Amino acid sequence: MNVRAYVGLGANVGEARGTLTAAVHALAALPAAQLVAVSRLYVTRPVGVTDQPDFLNAVVAIDVPGGPDPETGALALLVALKGIERAFGRRSRGRWGPRELDLDLLLFGDARLEVARPPAGISLDAGHRDRLLIVPHPEAERRLFVLAPLSDLAPDLVPPGWDASVAVASRRRAASEVPGAVRVVGTWDGAGWMAEDRTSGG
Ligand code: ADP
Ligand code: MG
Repeated sequence: MNVRAYVGLGANVGEARGTLTAAVHALAALPAAQLVAVSRLYVTRPVGVTDQPDFLNAVVAIDVPGGPDPETGALALLVALKGIERAFGRRSRGRWGPRELDLDLLLFGDARLEVARPPAGISLDAGHRDRLLIVPHPEAERRLFVLAPLSDLAPDLVPPGWDASVAVASRRRAASEVPGAVRVVGTWDGAGWMAEDRTSGG
């Protein structure tokens, strides 16, 4: 049985737009995975460590094997995400610092997970703090750079443990951020993000 997962993408080092485009194609090429939808592309102000370049952010919906149980299926996807991050040259820096590519597992079907250690046979980078995997991603509800692109794909979805739909959470969050903190800069056309055409209206 397949599970619909949502993955958040971010980058602010190097050719960020090219990196995110290639990362979407890498996600689509994962074994047994089917890319379902790609959000618009957003440029966002850095959160936490603000003395660094703006980020580009997007979210994809992807159908992946559910595994024998959600923990196993979600961990397998997390391992795949970490592999793609490494393939795009991500190096260890401080948390919230600049990164070549960040892939976060936002949602895994309707699963609520807190996994503390990997099962034997699944290798992940050493040195991770806190929990190995928490789903829904605990910061997703508070981050407009996640909520805005996720709302492109699943506005009416109420993730497990949330008190509101993605669209409502996104509007709430937008109201408490400065205007322009998160801006649309492209629309996915199947191969990459094309610049928003501001003359055509709609
Ligand atoms: P950030 O929180 O800025 O995305 P990292 O990408 O470096 O930081 O991730 C740090 C750790 O967070 C990873 O080692 C991973 O095991 C853990 N983690 C917990 N839950 C998740 C999740 N839902 N998606 C991705 N990583 C997660
Ligand atoms: Mg991450």
